[in-house]
Amino acid sequence: MNRFEYASPSSAQQAIGLLSATWGDSEILAGGTDLLGRMKDYVSTPKRVVNIKNLPGLHSISRENGGVRIGALVTLDGIIEASDVRRHYPALAKAVAEAASPQIRNMATIGGNLCQRPRCWYYRRGFGLLAKTPDGKSLVPDGENRYHAILGNDGPAYFVSPSTIAPMLIAYNARLRISGPDGPREIALERFFRIPQSENEREHDLKANEIVTEIFIPADKDMRAANYEVRQKAAFDWPLATASVVLEMSGNTVRSARVVMGAVAPVPWVSEEAAQAITGKSVDEQTAGAAGRAAVTKARPLSQNGYKTKLASVAVKRALLLATGQTIPDVHTAKTAGGVA
Ligand SMILES: Cc1cc2nc3c(=O)[nH]c(=O)nc-3n(C[C@H](O)[C@H](O)[C@H](O)COP(=O)(O)OP(=O)(O)OC[C@H]3O[C@@H](n4cnc5c(N)ncnc54)[C@H](O)[C@@H]3O)c2cc1C
Repeated sequence: MNRFEYASPSSAQQAIGLLSATWGDSEILAGGTDLLGRMKDYVSTPKRVVNIKNLPGLHSISRENGGVRIGALVTLDGIIEASDVRRHYPALAKAVAEAASPQIRNMATIGGNLCQRPRCWYYRRGFGLLAKTPDGKSLVPDGENRYHAILGNDGPAYFVSPSTIAPMLIAYNARLRISGPDGPREIALERFFRIPQSENEREHDLKANEIVTEIFIPADKDMRAANYEVRQKAAFDWPLATASVVLEMSGNTVRSARVVMGAVAPVPWVSEEAAQAITGKSVDEQTAGAAGRAAVTKARPLSQNGYKTKLASVAVKRALLLATGQTIPDVHTAKTAGGVA
């Protein structure tokens, strides 16, 4: 690890003042579970690390306008244990409980989770976010791309957005509060994630001297929600495809739907196609299956990741069934039966 200056401010204003306006010069340290690994691997080499764990007011969860406000420094464990989250947003508690391992959830903060950098192995081995050769060609389309994007991958980015919690928060219409030198601002979490067009851009709508301070989830209007992840094995690795759904029901009929897929695109992927396919219908094997297929109509797999199209489609179908209280095939049964359905 390179030498760096360490600062531990006690107010947001001080922290903002210590952050450089240029990406790469300084880094925010929250739980450190992503940043420290990147620094040890020389993927990130900041001259200054700004510890934000002493900033006041960012460690708690509270009710606000019928919704819930989560401070950016609340740990993933803190979210799972919060009664307000378990009671009003149980699908969020489940999504958080499925992320990483107990040790990591104990350290990792929700702000850090949303700002963590991609796990793309080209990026993590120093080839840059877009993994381009000096003549501007990406290494990914003809390279090792089995875990890369199947949607939103018409260039120049092929990595998948790493947070498995963001899709569930986006399905709940969460908003992000951010503080910077120009004061506070608020944006829909959906718009916080973006596909970088050059190596100078980041995958977040965030300036180098801005800090994510809070996540706000609006009031739950009797919603039905679920999160479903397809994993290679039951271990603390990132899933291969996920689906988060939030449904507003009118009796047994879906009045409106938010369907957000994870691990399939450089951003959490909001599927209008799946939402349209299920709206106005009751959820059953057929309608959920049709919505799952609709979710991947625009998928364009790379040379090695065609298998993800089926997984993403099944994740959407199963999330819809789970959200409406229906049983889904046991994963092991599905495996022995010859695949996922
Ligand atoms: C083995 C393993 C398995 C994992 N599995 C999953 C998984 O299944 N799902 C999943 O979602 N994640 C997974 N993770 C990632 C883990 O959840 C993240 O590393 C963690 O959430 C990051 O939070 P942190 O507080 O430690 O962030 P840090 O490491 O402190 O920071 C991460 C990045 O965000 C920036 N940052 C942090 N806080 C803020 C803020 N408030 N404002 C602006 N920028 C900020 C930092 O500068 C840094 O660049 C896994 C990690 C490991 C090591």
